[in-house]
Amino acid sequence: MEKFRELGLEGEILKGIADLGFETPSPVQEKVIPVILGEERDLVALAQTGTGKTAAFGLPLLQKLDGGLNKIQVLILSPTRELCVQIGNDLKNYSKYRSDLKITSVYGGTDIRRQIRELEKGVHVLVATPGRLCDLINRDAVDIEAVRAVVLDESDEMLNMGFKEDLNFILEATPKERNTYLFSATMPREVERIARNYLHDPMEIAVGKKNQGADTVSHQYYQVRAKDCYETLHRVIDCAPDMYAIIFTRTKIDAREIAHKLQKDSIDCDALHGDLSQTQRDEVMARFRSKRLKVLVATDVAARGLDVDNLTHVINYNLPEDVESYTHRSGRTGRAGREGISVAIINSKEKGKLKRIEHALKKQFEYREVPGGEAVCRAQLLWYADKILASEQKETLSPYQQELFEKFGELTKEELIQKIVSYEFGRLLKKYAAVEDLNLSESERYGSGGGRESGRDGKKRGGRESSFTVFNVNVGRDDDFTPRDLMTIINEYAPVRGLEIGGIRIFNTNTKFEVDVTGIERFGSYFRNVNFNGLPFTLTETGERPGGLRKPEKGGERGGKWNATAKWKNERRFGEGNSRGRFGEKRKGMDNGRRSAKKK
Ligand code: ADP
Ligand code: MG
Repeated sequence: MEKFRELGLEGEILKGIADLGFETPSPVQEKVIPVILGEERDLVALAQTGTGKTAAFGLPLLQKLDGGLNKIQVLILSPTRELCVQIGNDLKNYSKYRSDLKITSVYGGTDIRRQIRELEKGVHVLVATPGRLCDLINRDAVDIEAVRAVVLDESDEMLNMGFKEDLNFILEATPKERNTYLFSATMPREVERIARNYLHDPMEIAVGKKNQGADTVSHQYYQVRAKDCYETLHRVIDCAPDMYAIIFTRTKIDAREIAHKLQKDSIDCDALHGDLSQTQRDEVMARFRSKRLKVLVATDVAARGLDVDNLTHVINYNLPEDVESYTHRSGRTGRAGREGISVAIINSKEKGKLKRIEHALKKQFEYREVPGGEAVCRAQLLWYADKILASEQKETLSPYQQELFEKFGELTKEELIQKIVSYEFGRLLKKYAAVEDLNLSESERYGSGGGRESGRDGKKRGGRESSFTVFNVNVGRDDDFTPRDLMTIINEYAPVRGLEIGGIRIFNTNTKFEVDVTGIERFGSYFRNVNFNGLPFTLTETGERPGGLRKPEKGGERGGKWNATAKWKNERRFGEGNSRGRFGEKRKGMDNGRRSAKKK
């Protein structure tokens, strides 16, 4: 507390932060507080998320406020609604003992009339998103004549979000004598331009080296096939029962989808993104803060600046394009000296991105193997056991104690434990009893594969075999049918990309192949109107167990493994009219003479 006093803070404000448990100022606070208190000077401060910026500008500004002047004196702009609310709440806490001060947050997505009524009552500090503030100014609903200080919080993000025009408008509209304090994690050109145009001879403060991840964060990555990313995420979560995390996705569609899947997989989670109504967002954040949600799936924009304490993990479900975003994301864990883990789940194509981030951070990501079923179950069971051991023995059990003892009395200790575990974890144990090994082989990880998943070892598929279905097609070697023809037809007519084809075996008059039809209702129906070399191309499910087409055997030709990707489609060699591989729509009344001749 003494340190804060030395910086110039006093009285009620000191009391307020003492209640919050602040003891010593953070580096950015040490530098910023005396400047705002002491000089009438503009300021540019570069500092990462979690460095305590809100108090750095909030404490001195609150102390300087004149409670007797019933006008907006401090204007704080921030990019998102959540951040507005959070800053407002933080400032209210700091000034808990200054009952003469009124702090209000305004932001889009909620009733503007209510906000106008609130403003009419008189406000000293207004926290606002730029868009909503412009609306209010245009409606003449806000008086900014007496504004003495403007804070631009998370400036880079405000500009990223397209608030440039609004910021220009607001900065033009506020009194020229005001001081402007610009806070930003990064200094892109647009932020510099704002500083140049609207700040006067600003003092520049930078805290911490730029692009340097916090030292308490360990960076880890999992490298898997693109289609296994979700399953990997699921296992990483299941393997960390204590997890309290934000999962970052690139788009809001991804955020929604991942959250939806995780919910289906019984993980307490929800998504935070721009499409939610204000009430929905508040509700999601409330559940996450109170830890009723274990994970929050969010886009960078939606999560920007949110102060959520004690995250154990940050998960990059997609790696961001730029290093700054990564720094921002990972900076949300490992706070207050606690250990944090930043996880990236990448596919082979993203290795380059990972390398670039490593290079910029000057930190290595540690490669981690995707946990198998046993690891997940062990983690869950041991965690559960620890929780039980650590639980308090409640006296209140005594009235029922006798009955309970009688009920369980027959069981041995081992049986009782088994029963409890089966009851609590039956589903988990069953799910993880035989799961696929998702890890890539060394050669796949480092190999020249360039992202193609062809060189992969069939044995590894383990428990996933069952998702393949065996189909029979009525054309074969005698019809000059080749695996390439099969792939071309699938690419042409199946409206699904990235289908995985298991084995292909071509016989004299027919062909069998395996395809992963997970999520596809009726694969056969895609090919109803197709013909090959004048023959109707008819697909039927054989009902055979998959896996049998892998080994070449007599009479069959190993087709190898193929991915029906869009790339394949482009590689198609056979044009219309090519005599060898002609196929197209079935024509009415066409005779499939050659084929029927063979049957006889
Ligand atoms: P930033 O805006 O830089 O991302 P915040 O202002 O949101 O960071 O602060 C991050 C967290 O650190 C908050 O929970 C805040 O209460 C806490 N905090 C800030 N300053 C101090 C301090 N001097 N001592 C202890 N905790 C602090
Ligand atoms: Mg902040």
